Amino acid sequence: MAHTHQHNNFEALLERHHLKKTGPRLKVLSMLSAKKVATSQPDLESVMDDIDRVTLYRILSAFEEKGIIHKVFDLNGTANYAMCSSNCEENHHHDEHLHFNCTVCKNVYCLDDLNLPPLTLPNGFKPEGFTLYATGLCPKCSKSAEKK
Ligand SMILES: [Zn+2]
Ligand SMILES: [Zn+2]
Ligand SMILES: [Zn+2]
Repeated sequence: MAHTHQHNNFEALLERHHLKKTGPRLKVLSMLSAKKVATSQPDLESVMDDIDRVTLYRILSAFEEKGIIHKVFDLNGTANYAMCSSNCEENHHHDEHLHFNCTVCKNVYCLDDLNLPPLTLPNGFKPEGFTLYATGLCPKCSKSAEKK
């Protein structure tokens, strides 16, 4: 029963962040973690017709604040959301991985296993976080480009 097991993990995650375990919240978590790419609010809305826009917006903001999900932008400038790595904390994100924007399918990929060298900024700049982007073709789109 892999599904039930997963569900329990999400309940534990909400508990750890002192969030009530509501159906909509659990649904958003399972949606976001099931996908390899970041998901926009309109995409979430289209599959969760039982949750209204305001509720969804509140869920996403609360998750972002708690360090459960992080926001990335796709090439259209639309906000997308992806699950955080486990070392994110409330109001303190450590999602310093590369975000890959595919110019064809417009999907945003979190490339977690890529280790980036620490960036040194000029004197006087005090960074609170980094969001790094790369653009190009994702594996799926580069494969179909080869076929043509
Ligand atoms: Zn994060
Ligand atoms: Zn693509
Ligand atoms: Zn990410």
